[in-house]
Amino acid sequence: MTKSEANYDVMIVGAGVSGSFIGWYLAEKGVKCLVLEAGSYFHAGNYPTNERDSNSKFYWGGGLEFNTHASIGLLRPKAVGGGSIVNQALLDRFDADALDSWKNRSGVEYFSQKALEKYYDIVDEQLVSQEIPAKYRNGNAEVFEQGFKNNGYICAPLIRAQKDCKYEDGNDCIECLGGCRIDSKQSTPVTVLKKAMDKNLDVVPDFDVTDMQVEDSTTRVSGTFTNGQKGEFSARKLVLAAGAIGNTRLLKQSGFRNPIIGSGFYTHPQHMILAEYDREINAQKGAFQAFKSNDENFRRDGFKLENVFAAPVAIAMLLPGFGKKHQEIMERYINLACIEVAIRDTNPGRIKINKAGKPVISKSLNKLDKTRLKKGTEAIYNIFNSTGAKRVIPGILPIGLHLMGGCAMGLDERNSVVNADFQMHENPNVFIADSSIFPDAPGINPSMTIMALSVKAAETILQKL
Ligand SMILES: Cc1cc2nc3c(=O)[nH]c(=O)nc-3n(C[C@H](O)[C@H](O)[C@H](O)COP(=O)(O)OP(=O)(O)OC[C@H]3O[C@@H](n4cnc5c(N)ncnc54)[C@H](O)[C@@H]3O)c2cc1C
Repeated sequence: MTKSEANYDVMIVGAGVSGSFIGWYLAEKGVKCLVLEAGSYFHAGNYPTNERDSNSKFYWGGGLEFNTHASIGLLRPKAVGGGSIVNQALLDRFDADALDSWKNRSGVEYFSQKALEKYYDIVDEQLVSQEIPAKYRNGNAEVFEQGFKNNGYICAPLIRAQKDCKYEDGNDCIECLGGCRIDSKQSTPVTVLKKAMDKNLDVVPDFDVTDMQVEDSTTRVSGTFTNGQKGEFSARKLVLAAGAIGNTRLLKQSGFRNPIIGSGFYTHPQHMILAEYDREINAQKGAFQAFKSNDENFRRDGFKLENVFAAPVAIAMLLPGFGKKHQEIMERYINLACIEVAIRDTNPGRIKINKAGKPVISKSLNKLDKTRLKKGTEAIYNIFNSTGAKRVIPGILPIGLHLMGGCAMGLDERNSVVNADFQMHENPNVFIADSSIFPDAPGINPSMTIMALSVKAAETILQKL
């Protein structure tokens, strides 16, 4: 049994986007912090070098997990750095529409662009973010931009958390979905977490927290290391930053009975739609993403489009057909373009945890969500058809990459789990600020707002200490 000797002020479960930012802020202020992470510590020198290994090493469930109907695939990151290691690193601030919806649902006043601006600015200071210079946009980006022009749709350059991708050396950013081997992607282990570890923050990787106990002046957690060894750690305050599914799992396993925990689960289901061209598109080359939709009609209709592609194993999984037919499309990999439609989903799902500690997820699209999907899909067909596609090939499996909710923030204890100070209603020594507190689906890339809210939460924790 490993027991913590040090006297920690704050213990954080999960070294993902939220856990890293909370740990960084507190460590900068001299608070002694411990971060416990179920995943391993990877870095530029030991990232897996092929797609299959990175899928199995960086995700819970050894890759893809599913909802109960196996109609939506779920990607749940597991590594020091969490989603920031494997994600596409696209940064967006929330618009008034998303924040107004949160304010209405939760009653929390600071859900406004003005009140959050200061926290977004703090995040911006910690990361380098860039648009992709026009000269490095690839064939897939050209299809996207041209198709938008042809149809009178509005698009905008994506902002990506990256420093220097050295495209001129022939780097293909698609590889960084399995960790960026030149440390250009601004994952937390090369930004805030690194700074924090140089100060007052200890990180314990490969440790799955399975139980928590909270008393007035102490919080304790116990769990198991990947090698089977048991461990126990304690601190004055506890932060849960294990993500939407991880927080629900830990709370349920620790005996929290509140039925609100695990409810209100959203995923922005994303459908990748491919198209075959006679010419080479080389969507896998260089900067693999450059544009997003920025069209108020699309926003009103509840979907967004993004210029995207995936490595061969993922594309093979998304393509329809079997055997020779499937192989024939795969042989055209370099002739494929791809656009994703992500739905601002309105049908909340539910996370339950079975006796084996595994998540059981009920999540489906309602009529409105299906209408949103249909409209987004039509726009993509228009884009492809207007740019000379030979045929359009819809991917067969929607994926949930933005896992949100389960511990919603709100003023009313009857329909929320944490209050406006990020404290659990039923236990103020426990704080949560990650994707699990989202009151609904914003329809916008979430990670920058998770970072901003985590900084705000850390400020509050500091006051309470
Ligand atoms: C492929 C992909 C692409 C994406 N692209 C974008 C994008 O471009 N822009 C964007 O804004 N968002 C993107 N996202 C989503 C974004 O990465 C997530 O919304 C974000 O990481 C959520 O932050 P979090 O802190 O809530 O959780 P995470 O970053 O997932 O961190 C949670 C951490 O907690 C750990 N954990 C869980 N349970 C336990 C436990 N019991 N004990 C110890 N540790 C535990 C997990 O292993 C994990 O490392 C993408 C996600 C994926 C998967």
